[in-house]
Amino acid sequence: MNRTVAGVILALLCSASTSLFAQIPTAPPWHDIEVTLTSGNGEIRVSDRITLDGRERFRFGLAHWLEIEALSVDGVGASVTRQDGGYLVELPDSGRHQLDFKLRGTVPPRDAGQGRDAGMLASSGDDGVYLPAYDAWIPDEGGASIRYRLKVGIAATRRAVATAKLIDEKVDGGRYQASFEQSHAGEAPSLFTGPYQVRERLVDGLRLRTYFHAELAELSDIYLDAANAYIQRYRRQIGDYPYADFHVISAPLPVGLGFPNLTYVGRRVIPLPFMRGRSLAHEVLHNWWGNGVAVDYASGNWAEGLTTFMADYALERDKSAAAARSMRIKWLRDYAALPPGRDLPVRAFRSRRHQASQVIGYDKVAFIFHMLTREIGRPAFDAGLRRFWNWHKYRGAGWRDLQAAFEAAAGRDLGWFFRQWLDRPGAPRISIGAHSLTRVDEGFRLDVEIIQPIAGYRFGLPVLLTTDDGFERHEIRVSETLTRVEWITSARPRSIHFDPDNDVFRLLRKSETPPILRDITLDPAATAMIGAGNEEFAGVARALAAGLMDVEARFAELALDRTIERPLLLITTTDRLHQQLAQLGLQQPAGLPAAEYSAAAWTARLANGVPILVVSADNVAELRALLRPLPHYGGQSYVLFETGRARDRGIWPVKRGALFLEFD
Ligand SMILES: [Zn+2]
Repeated sequence: MNRTVAGVILALLCSASTSLFAQIPTAPPWHDIEVTLTSGNGEIRVSDRITLDGRERFRFGLAHWLEIEALSVDGVGASVTRQDGGYLVELPDSGRHQLDFKLRGTVPPRDAGQGRDAGMLASSGDDGVYLPAYDAWIPDEGGASIRYRLKVGIAATRRAVATAKLIDEKVDGGRYQASFEQSHAGEAPSLFTGPYQVRERLVDGLRLRTYFHAELAELSDIYLDAANAYIQRYRRQIGDYPYADFHVISAPLPVGLGFPNLTYVGRRVIPLPFMRGRSLAHEVLHNWWGNGVAVDYASGNWAEGLTTFMADYALERDKSAAAARSMRIKWLRDYAALPPGRDLPVRAFRSRRHQASQVIGYDKVAFIFHMLTREIGRPAFDAGLRRFWNWHKYRGAGWRDLQAAFEAAAGRDLGWFFRQWLDRPGAPRISIGAHSLTRVDEGFRLDVEIIQPIAGYRFGLPVLLTTDDGFERHEIRVSETLTRVEWITSARPRSIHFDPDNDVFRLLRKSETPPILRDITLDPAATAMIGAGNEEFAGVARALAAGLMDVEARFAELALDRTIERPLLLITTTDRLHQQLAQLGLQQPAGLPAAEYSAAAWTARLANGVPILVVSADNVAELRALLRPLPHYGGQSYVLFETGRARDRGIWPVKRGALFLEFD
């Protein structure tokens, strides 16, 4: 299992969900689990009766905060030995056996220091207890799939919910009890409790619920409506929703995690509009991609990119073709900001550990699915998805399974497509070579050379040709390093634009990519410099640089001049800014809006092409107010703040692009 944890509350939520269901040759074990939780202090008792076949020993891991009180094998007391950081129980033979575990412990109290790992670790507090399967709160065979029934008991002021079908629940004698069942093989249970108010809606046998803290209860209907709409959308597009329930659960942690049949979302994020829009769609879709079909991580993680394509991107496409194009351009800009040393082949992506891997595993992969749709056509693409779903539901699948499904649907070999986009790092570069426009008997003849210096990419390159008569759209196939194309037109050509809508994943040229914050923050070669003397200001500036940089921030005292050779992050006070820019041979960019602001972040290139990110604030309080919001604007060229609120932001305008020719 590998889940992404948003380190701060505002981060875009996402989950790289699920374990790979490890391949164990025998039938998956059956667990009968009973959990008793004492709210308030995190005390927990777990009994787990495991019925299994076909092995002579049972090797398992267990959370460090749990102790084994008792163990019997087929009703006879048994001992465990510690081995390789886990445990081992010898069984009498490889027949069927029943292991009875009694476990007790205290779920570790939640603390602020859990940071990025918060989604992987069990934690408890007054506002909820979180028991992810990943933390092995029942004996865990390396993430192997199991079937189980789970019974939970907790104080009646609380509710408990798990990653399986809710069978029954009741309140009795001051206790709330609920049972859950997973009858098909899947990941071990994750369990969530809290002082929740539960709202429910039943739709065609599907149970939708919100488990919200009291202050969120009025948002329940909005969430139930939105979740239902997304489920119906993906059911139509892919195939039946794979579970009996879907829940949205309010999390005390600043996370956004997708689990089978539920999503666990930070309680401070739930009120934000983006959460019930794009982020909820994304989490709902993970029930198909990542949970319904698990990721075979050995061959790379296809699920994040496919989910990004069918959720985040598809919602933009619903708005307009222009919105979809903007998202593709944003992906290309972010990719262009990635230093070559941090690029990696798509197949090497496993999960999002930092922004650089998101640029590949989410965005580049989503772009590849856009190109695949264009390559084989929308009907074949949709048919391929349904095939993939039907073939691999409740099992693990890898990239080659996706390829096979699309090949079957398209009726042709796509090996070249998947090889070039998944196995190679990098992207094609395209430029226009020699070109000429001549008069001929039939009208005009236009000759253009398309050059791709990096050999071996094959793709369709859309062309928009504008003549005195209007527009003509064409598509040429590019596969060689030099492609010559020729058009005869009766009307006079005015301009020609290759890839006018950014349909090809390619390395944008400098002239096509105005600098954005990520040009500096993703680059391990970048240096941070604090350009103001006050010690308190410098301390906050150091924290800001650490939060901004995707790699460890490196600080230096530089002489500011025009010959700086590495990307620079300059953090300074507004009153020093003018003089420091002059030393760098820069001016405040003319494109900055005239809005009132008390802090600003903007990018520029020095005369030698080196990108620079300037952060200025009127005083230390204004700088401190940037700590949380500024890291979320990596895709922008500038952001203007007033007391931590973004007043304006944008990307510097670009010229028509490098693939545009105009004829006089
Ligand atoms: Zn995701």
